[in-house]
Amino acid sequence: MTKSDVRVRMAPSPTGFFHVGSARTALYNWLFARKNGGKFILRVEDTDVVRSSDEMIEVILDGMRWLGIDWDEGPHFQSARIATYQKYVQMLLDRGTAYYCYCDPGDLERERQSAYARKEDWRYDRRCLNLSPAERAEKERQQVPRVVRFLVPDGTVAYHDLIHGGITRESKDIEDLVILRSNGRPTYNLACAVDDHEMGISHVIRAVDHITNTPKQVLLFKALGLPEPQYAHLPLILGTDKSKLSKRHGAVSIMDYRDLGYLPEAMVNYLALLGWSPGDDREIMSVNDMIASFDLGRINPSNAVFDEHKLEWMNGQYIYAMSDEVFCERLSPFLVRFGLLTAGEIDARKNWLLKVCGLVKLRLKTLSDIKDVAGYFFVDDFEYEEGGLKKHANAETFEILAGFLPHLAQAADYTASSIEESIRSYAGQNDIKVRQLIHSLRMSVTGKEGGPGLFEVMELIGKDKCLDRIRRFTRGS
Ligand code: GLU
Repeated sequence: MTKSDVRVRMAPSPTGFFHVGSARTALYNWLFARKNGGKFILRVEDTDVVRSSDEMIEVILDGMRWLGIDWDEGPHFQSARIATYQKYVQMLLDRGTAYYCYCDPGDLERERQSAYARKEDWRYDRRCLNLSPAERAEKERQQVPRVVRFLVPDGTVAYHDLIHGGITRESKDIEDLVILRSNGRPTYNLACAVDDHEMGISHVIRAVDHITNTPKQVLLFKALGLPEPQYAHLPLILGTDKSKLSKRHGAVSIMDYRDLGYLPEAMVNYLALLGWSPGDDREIMSVNDMIASFDLGRINPSNAVFDEHKLEWMNGQYIYAMSDEVFCERLSPFLVRFGLLTAGEIDARKNWLLKVCGLVKLRLKTLSDIKDVAGYFFVDDFEYEEGGLKKHANAETFEILAGFLPHLAQAADYTASSIEESIRSYAGQNDIKVRQLIHSLRMSVTGKEGGPGLFEVMELIGKDKCLDRIRRFTRGS
């Protein structure tokens, strides 16, 4: 196979949100396509979904766009290709490798449930395959609803998984699966195999949840006389409690992460390492580095653990590495969303905002941290930290601050250096520890015990506001 023969696909079912696991599947397919100069195809598997809407599909497409995962073909919609699937089902019927089944689904389900209750396996017993021509004609005359089942051939089915190695299954363990429903719509396995063929897919890279479907799809390819693609099943993503990642673990939708203030580049970097590694200890990698190093052979077959702290750390690294200008731009929607600045104020106070950004950047793990970490730059009615209040809200500190107020009011140009000078000279003259004055000032003007350099912070907050805040604090309000 030449490199450009690589054709991979992402085949989401429109479920209304874009799960972290689906995003990783999309990313690995995309990295593999880009690495090999191949094509990445987007296919929406919407035949099975009762209420699939454009809105649900948009959520997935938006998520892909946000992550920067672009597709070369599609989106193709399975719901628009029903006649194609029916054509392949007819081919299987004509070859005698599929048959009509008139059984009542409710009856079969009851049989299945009672077998399970007896702790027995249950598989469809092919009773419709064995109908006599007269019995079949009678069912047709009565217009009994019918599905089409695939006749699973005897023997074994084997394929080579690029991540898990050789996989073999006994046909006797595979039920004659329904491939066409009574409403004429295909089931997942049929539509998937047909499309993987029609779309020229060379490698199917998907979550390991589908590994039990693969032998069925391989059998369908064989029955149709078609070559099957290569398969690679990606490990599961677990929460830190080692159960499968789900909403119980918090955010699992990519768009939730966007709204929480994660950067798409950090998300992509984190997702890339969730099951794959470049073979050295690199953790922060550009997309180009990922593409250059991506290799299916380096995917770890064991389950990956989604560690939100690690993601947060990585996001912080990306924020820290940004220029103040870029950071400011990325932060702006969050400032507006939290009511910290209006869009007009962001424009009007650009230089000031850039300085604030430079000061707080390394303290933010996510963009939405701005509100709690540095909201005091923008609003006056912040809360005081409990621990700081215990230490600083006392008569002695109030007296020191009240004494310092007129001194600070005289600071000529109110720059970081004149503020520092004012603090040091007042502390020196009044036998107060500089550190003590700094800590209580920080508490009064920011409500926090820690933060960026206080002199710069005070300069950016501005003289009048600082004086007001110190007065307010000493009044205990
Ligand atoms: N539509 C399937 C899903 O969303 C994907 C199937 C596949 O990749 O073959 O899980």
